[in-house]
Amino acid sequence: TRQDVINFAAGPAGMATDVVEEYAKDFVNFQNLGMGVGEISHRSKEGTGIVNRTEQSLRRMYGLPDNFHILFMQGGGTEQFAAVLYNVYAHHALYNPNAKELVANYIVTGSWSKKALNEAQRLGFPCHVAADTKELTGKYGCLPKDSDLNYTRAGETSLVYWCDNETIHGVEYNEPPANIPKGAVRVCDASSNFISRRIDFTKHDILFAGAQKNAGPAGITMVFVRDSILERALVPDLHKMGIPVSTTMADYKLMADSNSLYNTLPIPTLHAINLGLQYMEGKGGLPFLEEASYKKSEMVYQVLDKYPIYENFVDTCARSRMNVTFRVISQDLENKLLVGAEKLHMMQLKGHRSIGGVRVSLYNAITVEETEQLVKYLESFGAEHS
Ligand code: PMP
Repeated sequence: TRQDVINFAAGPAGMATDVVEEYAKDFVNFQNLGMGVGEISHRSKEGTGIVNRTEQSLRRMYGLPDNFHILFMQGGGTEQFAAVLYNVYAHHALYNPNAKELVANYIVTGSWSKKALNEAQRLGFPCHVAADTKELTGKYGCLPKDSDLNYTRAGETSLVYWCDNETIHGVEYNEPPANIPKGAVRVCDASSNFISRRIDFTKHDILFAGAQKNAGPAGITMVFVRDSILERALVPDLHKMGIPVSTTMADYKLMADSNSLYNTLPIPTLHAINLGLQYMEGKGGLPFLEEASYKKSEMVYQVLDKYPIYENFVDTCARSRMNVTFRVISQDLENKLLVGAEKLHMMQLKGHRSIGGVRVSLYNAITVEETEQLVKYLESFGAEHS
């Protein structure tokens, strides 16, 4: 049963049972309409109510400044790799006749920022790698030092892009990268540490996050965008300037003007997100979640540090609170650890297929008590095999 299982999945991740149960009821019969939340128009009073309430919940939770928009978009985090470029270049094109020449700067700290860079290259935008920690150190497992950050010159940079938490490698920023050149749009992929700590929005211009880790089921990406970035050149002018024009669905301005309801939005997903937000607010909101995330991850890192059979490749200062990655000293022992965990109903601990190993994802639905159970297991496994 649900009660027996601890779901350590990296995403889609587990959700609080109270939220899932409430959602299940609403999927059958929403607000006593005799229709489920997946069976009503996104433009109905109930549908738009869900959109507006979810936005309000997020604004409240983050104390979001009024000069930020929240967009609910589709296509996952992956679609945002492209969307940010189209929108940022269209924005620069309003003020800069040479916008086409501006260079997108990427800080690569793991698979997801690398994928974002690859998308920019695929689409033909001028790109520059401000730092790639694998090139600097031979592996992804740290953050670049300030002195390693080599940006394109101020005035020549379109955007600076970073991934706040690398879900596969388990590398997390503590604060946004340093010394970002003036005029660059600061773009943050916060997909896997969203809703786990407070965010200083004065240090961001665009921040996006897919729902399927800390916020709810897959299907919606939340995009926080500074109002000024929504000002952009018109499509015919972009054509004249030779700047690629986004699809309608990736156009932030169109999404903002239509309250994210340009086309059919998956309202059930949004409703599940909002139920989750309300639940987390009830628990104490971001201050509570932030504290819990440190507590849970520190407990796990502590036991990993204690036994030499566990190998963690991430620098102490870059350790993720959300995805704790490690290897066991031999493949045999690692398999044994995973099988033993499953016997105890601790599920989905296997590392990403691209790098292997073990990955403990500690999103919001994982409680301190559940983390303690895992730690107890890692402790006895470590003691037995050291
Ligand atoms: N960025 C990060 C940090 C991610 O973890 C993921 C997905 N795991 C993505 C982007 C891509 O998200 P999606 O699968 O929704 O496209």
